[in-house]
Amino acid sequence: MSTTTYDVAIIGGGIVGLATAMALTDRFPLSLVVLESEDHLAAHQTGHNSGVIHSGLYYKPGSLKARNCVEGRQAMYQFCQEHGIAHDPCGKVVVATQPSELPALEALEKRGVANGLDGIRRLNSPEEIHEYEPHASGIAGLYVPQTGIVDYTQVTNTYAEIVQNAGGVIQTRSRVTAFRHTGNEFVLQTPQGEVICHNLINCAGLQSDRVARMCGVDPKLQILPFRGEYYELTPQSEHLVNNLIYPVPDPRFPFLGVHFTRMVHGGIEAGPNAVLAFMREGYRFGDISIPDVLQYGLYGGFWRMAWKYWQTSVGEFYRSLSKRAFVHALQRLLPELRLEDVHRSGSGVRAQALEPNGNLADDFRIVEAEHMVHVLNAPSPAATASISIGRSIADMAVKNFELVRV
Ligand SMILES: Cc1cc2nc3c(=O)[nH]c(=O)nc-3n(C[C@H](O)[C@H](O)[C@H](O)COP(=O)(O)OP(=O)(O)OC[C@H]3O[C@@H](n4cnc5c(N)ncnc54)[C@H](O)[C@@H]3O)c2cc1C
Repeated sequence: MSTTTYDVAIIGGGIVGLATAMALTDRFPLSLVVLESEDHLAAHQTGHNSGVIHSGLYYKPGSLKARNCVEGRQAMYQFCQEHGIAHDPCGKVVVATQPSELPALEALEKRGVANGLDGIRRLNSPEEIHEYEPHASGIAGLYVPQTGIVDYTQVTNTYAEIVQNAGGVIQTRSRVTAFRHTGNEFVLQTPQGEVICHNLINCAGLQSDRVARMCGVDPKLQILPFRGEYYELTPQSEHLVNNLIYPVPDPRFPFLGVHFTRMVHGGIEAGPNAVLAFMREGYRFGDISIPDVLQYGLYGGFWRMAWKYWQTSVGEFYRSLSKRAFVHALQRLLPELRLEDVHRSGSGVRAQALEPNGNLADDFRIVEAEHMVHVLNAPSPAATASISIGRSIADMAVKNFELVRV
């Protein structure tokens, strides 16, 4: 049983929780604990993503995603350099494969420029695309030099070392299951006993709406789990991809479409798709949690969303079950790819916030309550943006937690 009363407890040992812990311990002389459910850090979204350092191309100028992605990307490159973490600012191409995609490609270029990306190159012909990706198909494209690759589990573990060196405590196997408010303290129940704190930050990813409700805060949204499944190219077919090849995304949908990603430790991944999962931490098609499905099935916004996106959803389910259909989608970008060139690999589950009106929340959502901060929507590019998000939460803590700077 813990006897320490911490200044701050952070619920969630993913990249956002650890980046927040790092920003706080860097700025304030405080006692801090990070509580993580699983037996290791980065166990969910952070450890199951594409490992892309996003440029900031996609996001509405002025949005939290745009600002934090651009600042966070620069900070991420610097952090990796300073701590010897393998990364590669290799750049990426986005390719339009049909004339109907050209207006969206142009809009993307304008967004990138508005978000301060220098050096985006418009690729006006298949030959110009082939300068970067000789096997990619497309009628036009963009080359974005700022995009890169990294291993976010390694980044998170490095944040954790820095937090521990600054005196922060990291407790794994510590799922927070209950919350009570007594006087000016919060008492958090975990399997390892009670943890007492004055201030609380919720970075629980796929569980963040439930944690907020447990703490008496109405999140005004519902987390919807979208599984992203990957295939991996066989070593013989890796020569088909140099770095990163993306399609022009459907602007009505917050996901980027299946793409090719070179991984920083070697190998090429293809995916992820975006399939509605029947369990929040459901990494396989057959993983089902009745409480999870009932929770979103009974939420009005779910049916409004389902009505809007049913065609896309059916297509994603089909591509999830059929390798042939998945490869067919990939062949739009890479016509030479054959069925036997890929095999199924891992998956990740995105925590995507759904609003009561059926909209998938477009921007990051971070909500303050008395002596609390709740991170309620931090999907991609939150790994890229993590250092910047952590600093923003530390700024909130100055006001909301009455912490005094070092
Ligand atoms: C398939 C996929 C691909 C992606 N690709 C990219 C990419 O290329 N680039 C990019 O920038 N972003 C990408 N993202 C997004 C990125 O991974 C997430 O935005 C980021 O990891 C979110 O971090 P987090 O700390 O908020 O959540 P998580 O990493 O999910 O961490 C939350 C943690 O909270 C813990 N937790 C939950 N409930 C409790 C509780 N009650 N008590 C204690 N602990 C609890 C969980 O166990 C978990 O470890 C991708 C995501 C997915 C799923």
